[in-house]
Amino acid sequence: MTFGDSRSPAGRGPRSVPKPKRLAHLRLDPRGYPIIAVIGQAPGDIDFGALSERRKLALATFDLCAVCALPFGEELRWQVSVDEAAATAKTLVSSEAPVHEVCALYAAQVCPFVSSPYARHGDEIRRGLKRPEVTFLTGFRQTARVFGRRSGLQTSERVLHFETTDVEQRLRLSSSAEAIDAYQRALQTEVEVTIDEAEREIATRLTELTTEESEDSGSVMAGAAWFVGGAFCPGVGKVQGMQRFAEDPMYTALARRVLLEPGFAKKFEETDDLYTRAAVKWLNSRDHLPKILASWRNTALNRARHGRPSPGKSGGGIDPRKSKRKLQGAARRKNRR
Ligand SMILES: [Zn+2]
Repeated sequence: MTFGDSRSPAGRGPRSVPKPKRLAHLRLDPRGYPIIAVIGQAPGDIDFGALSERRKLALATFDLCAVCALPFGEELRWQVSVDEAAATAKTLVSSEAPVHEVCALYAAQVCPFVSSPYARHGDEIRRGLKRPEVTFLTGFRQTARVFGRRSGLQTSERVLHFETTDVEQRLRLSSSAEAIDAYQRALQTEVEVTIDEAEREIATRLTELTTEESEDSGSVMAGAAWFVGGAFCPGVGKVQGMQRFAEDPMYTALARRVLLEPGFAKKFEETDDLYTRAAVKWLNSRDHLPKILASWRNTALNRARHGRPSPGKSGGGIDPRKSKRKLQGAARRKNRR
């Protein structure tokens, strides 16, 4: 998708709009647009219209905003829609990961094409031939479920879906003036997102290029998310881009050990893979896991206790006697592209 295309309707340029403080760590594309957490980040390959399923898995696992990669804390989880029926329902199931309010309003503000759903809802809108007349933003209290399924037609790819529930706020923006006002209000009342060191490390790894190859970190972060419980997301094995993790038994075997052996989870912190280490340290240092991850893990734990295989076809197959070093070496290698 092209930005700055003369056919594109005016969003305000990224340099003319003050940025929320919480976006300060995002890298910028050559035109100055912050590169949001849910899209691939490789230089020369920035496509604001293409969600990365691997990144969505990381966002779901660590429970992060799809724009800034920071936690929600006490803030609501916002979804943007141009469809009134969807926007006013009590529960929304979307292939978009939720975001902070200020992040949603900023993205809509700077350029309607930077973020969902503008970039993806219909060719006419995308090409700038037609603007949605009204944009609906809905603030939900919780993400109730995340799961993989087809995005629509039987032939379509399977993608991750987010079900958000417990609506607490709604915004209806029917003009750019209203959008500007709403954004100004959100900006003025923006609270600082307080995070600990482990959360900072996750946000950094997710929004910076890989340290060794300067590539997009989405794949290595999805692998890391898999180990700490992303493996147990319902339907994840068939989601676009996840075959590598689903088909290699090593990934789910390690995820099961992290789940079932607290001692292993602790030792796994010493892995020399930066991404896995960040994820495992994050996991081990949580007082409470985010609801979604906790539910995935609980289901897998119950299955393991009742002797049923975990979801996906790669529940076992690893010789437990294999040394930790060997597993970790494998994790490191396989986690690369
Ligand atoms: Zn955010």
